[in-house]
Amino acid sequence: MAERYDVVVVGSGVGGMCAAALAVKKGYKTLVLESLDRVGGRYSTVEIDGYKCLTGACVIHYSGWVPWVFKEVGAPLELRDASEVYYNIKGQEFKVPLQNRVTALFDICNRLGGGEGKSKNIMGGMVKEVASKKLSGFFGKAVMDPKQTGGLTLREWLLQYTDNPVAHALFDSLSIGWVVAHSYEIPASEYFYFMSVMKGMNDIGLAPKGNKYNMEQLVKVVKSNGDVWLASPVTKILVSKGVVTGVVVRKEGGAEEEIACKAVISNVGPRKTVELSGEENYPEEYLRDMRVKLRPVPVTLVHVASEKPLVMPGGEHGMELVAGMRRVTAAVPLTNTCPELAPKGMHLIHYACSPPSTLVAMDPEEEIRMINKDLRDLHPDFDRYAKIISIEPKNIDDDLNEGRSWQAAPYQMPRETPVKNLWNVGDGVQSRGYTGTSGCAEGAKNVVEQLKKAVKPG
Ligand SMILES: Cc1cc2nc3c(=O)[nH]c(=O)nc-3n(C[C@H](O)[C@H](O)[C@H](O)COP(=O)(O)OP(=O)(O)OC[C@H]3O[C@@H](n4cnc5c(N)ncnc54)[C@H](O)[C@@H]3O)c2cc1C
Repeated sequence: MAERYDVVVVGSGVGGMCAAALAVKKGYKTLVLESLDRVGGRYSTVEIDGYKCLTGACVIHYSGWVPWVFKEVGAPLELRDASEVYYNIKGQEFKVPLQNRVTALFDICNRLGGGEGKSKNIMGGMVKEVASKKLSGFFGKAVMDPKQTGGLTLREWLLQYTDNPVAHALFDSLSIGWVVAHSYEIPASEYFYFMSVMKGMNDIGLAPKGNKYNMEQLVKVVKSNGDVWLASPVTKILVSKGVVTGVVVRKEGGAEEEIACKAVISNVGPRKTVELSGEENYPEEYLRDMRVKLRPVPVTLVHVASEKPLVMPGGEHGMELVAGMRRVTAAVPLTNTCPELAPKGMHLIHYACSPPSTLVAMDPEEEIRMINKDLRDLHPDFDRYAKIISIEPKNIDDDLNEGRSWQAAPYQMPRETPVKNLWNVGDGVQSRGYTGTSGCAEGAKNVVEQLKKAVKPG
């Protein structure tokens, strides 16, 4: 069968679209196949009652790899700065400066007290200074070696300096808010490494026209030498003698079509890639690694519509990390920065919520109950002004859950597969220290570099 495309990309998430646009720019005729009727996967937009809601990712890291890819392929990326960070502790809001965040954290803890006796404050100025210097040092440099942090979790590491409960709630919210792992789950070395790679998450932006709009700019790039087919699930990745040869796609109406190509880039996660291409093409070692290493994370995505600003009511541009609640870990007042996302005069707030353990499946009904309580505790007049317009628990076995991307190298699958000219991109195959959309874009860049070495366009 003649090859109509050099490359087929399965899935149009950030990883898939970045890889497709970069491949097109390198001269590869590329086809993107997406099972849904919209582009972007977990970086996209769904409209509910006139509100432009997120399908997953909220903020993009300016100095991360997504802006790099857009620039590289000549696509406009619409972002508005939302870099201010606040903490919400016990209903009180505190602004956190971009510089010296750690010292500011300890100052907040001392002001709030929060413990008994010794742990009431951070044990005096001397210890506070030592602790904040040490922590700032660890935040500032890439601490890759668990030996440097004694192999401790972030919580254990902090316990060396303070047992103040407010300090621990704050560090847990910093950890779950940025890396979707609790401070008692993540090794301190991984957390500090992540914060240094992501440059402290100091520069983030929101999409004023919605995330889908940004992804559609990559669609335009792909269409300059290829196609993007929506509502077109791939049912098989074809492999012959250990080499990828094409895909089978189910088109609207149910008919299946075989499409031959030289390379396939899969954006559906390593597990689904194996399902589509057939276990028989993988050595047992690869399959065992996949069973052990791939650990998706449960999260719940909430959108609230409100008549008045509930979060950062001064109209500040940024996000609030929420400490000490049952489930809510972060709140982003989207319309403070992008009023276009809601009907005129209304406010749209995105809340990220996590269960007490991110390692096992959650009970969605319990999550919804707890989130409802949190929202009323955070905003006592919630029912007068606001309503939940969407609440979506994404469990560990759901199709589009959050990837466990903070895991150290032993817990990442490689982007290369044992099948020649078949690569994975997206969550689950990110480079160490990266997470979210930035990690997906960085992985796409790496895969297209490998593609260039393995396959000639045309
Ligand atoms: C609640 C939540 C909040 C988040 N917040 C942030 C944030 O603020 N910042 C950040 O950077 N990251 C954030 N993330 C993470 C970020 O959303 C993901 O890392 C990223 O979007 C994942 O992209 P991906 O490349 O893995 O593709 P995905 O988004 O997983 O897309 C895969 C695509 O493949 C399609 N597909 C599946 N099967 C098939 C098939 N058989 N045939 C064709 N197509 C198929 C799917 O429909 C989907 O469109 C968040 C995630 C969640 C869930």
